[in-house]
Amino acid sequence: MTIPMALVGIGKIARDQHIPAITANPDFSLVAAVSRHGKVDGVPNFTDFDTFLAEGPQAAVALCTPPDVRLEVSLKAIAAGRDLLIEKPPAATLGEIETIIGVARDAGVVLFATWHSRFAPAVARARAWIAGRTVTRITITWREDVRRWHPNQAWIWQPGGFGVFDPGINALSILTEILPGPIHVNSAELEVPSNAFTPIAARLVMTGRGAIPVTADFDWRQEGPQTWDIEVQAGPERLKLRMGGARLAIDGAEVDVDAEQEYPEIYRRFARLVATRTSDADITPLRIVADACLKGRQTATDPFHD
Ligand code: NAP
Repeated sequence: MTIPMALVGIGKIARDQHIPAITANPDFSLVAAVSRHGKVDGVPNFTDFDTFLAEGPQAAVALCTPPDVRLEVSLKAIAAGRDLLIEKPPAATLGEIETIIGVARDAGVVLFATWHSRFAPAVARARAWIAGRTVTRITITWREDVRRWHPNQAWIWQPGGFGVFDPGINALSILTEILPGPIHVNSAELEVPSNAFTPIAARLVMTGRGAIPVTADFDWRQEGPQTWDIEVQAGPERLKLRMGGARLAIDGAEVDVDAEQEYPEIYRRFARLVATRTSDADITPLRIVADACLKGRQTATDPFHD
């Protein structure tokens, strides 16, 4: 039996990744879309979630909206007994995702709070490499061009929109996957455009388990080549994840990894979670962002214009 899926929030990620991943996976069938403006060909389209719940097909829900609307839609989906897959970041705040997790648990609904970057092909290899070594330093450099990746997405600059932490949390999701254990933020510098509520750049100084120094440099102003790197030093040995975990080098030598399959892997995992009635919702990357905002020294920068 296939799992019927409804996609909510038909924007960039729903179109680029969720629709192809669902339609390519024989365990799923796409049976509805819910979006105020976006439409999906070949399925019933609804412009509001209440009408979908009342009149649409029975289906699990994949939530591809911005994080600030996650709580409201998630609670409605859970109250209607729908299994739920949510995009990253899982909610706008820690309290919101903790509420979603608790309500889903009480309702017996499967909740999968996805971190797509954890499924990048080199991440599991990096985790295994680290497990056998004493890590001495981790350096994250995540610098991209906001105009290229988020054209006209006003929500990213609003409260609950995350700013540069929207991509930066992907790096933190890899960090917390390859380096299990507590990580705390020592200090953070956040640069916020004078016409926005969220940072365009953030530099974090953290400490990982066993007093490992970890730094992160997130910047949305990088034109030209884009950088999504995590470098792990273990004494004289060095592992480097590049391209968001799609490429791997050890001591400077490129290592072969599989082709990128992040969203197909997400849906394969969701099928297993539904089959076993198990939830998966890890909030540790969001906690680091929250701590960086609590501890961060904020400075105003030039206004941002798309
Ligand atoms: P997007 O292009 O803006 O699409 C999100 C859609 O959600 C919008 O098109 C909008 O469709 C709907 N929506 C519902 N309530 C909204 C509100 N209050 N404000 C704005 N839109 C609202 O954004 P996206 O890039 O797909 O990102 C969505 C989520 O996926 C984010 O959490 C992001 O971090 C995550 N994600 C994005 C990417 C990427 O490459 N873009 C990659 C991985 C994960 P209607 O107007 O039709 O309702």
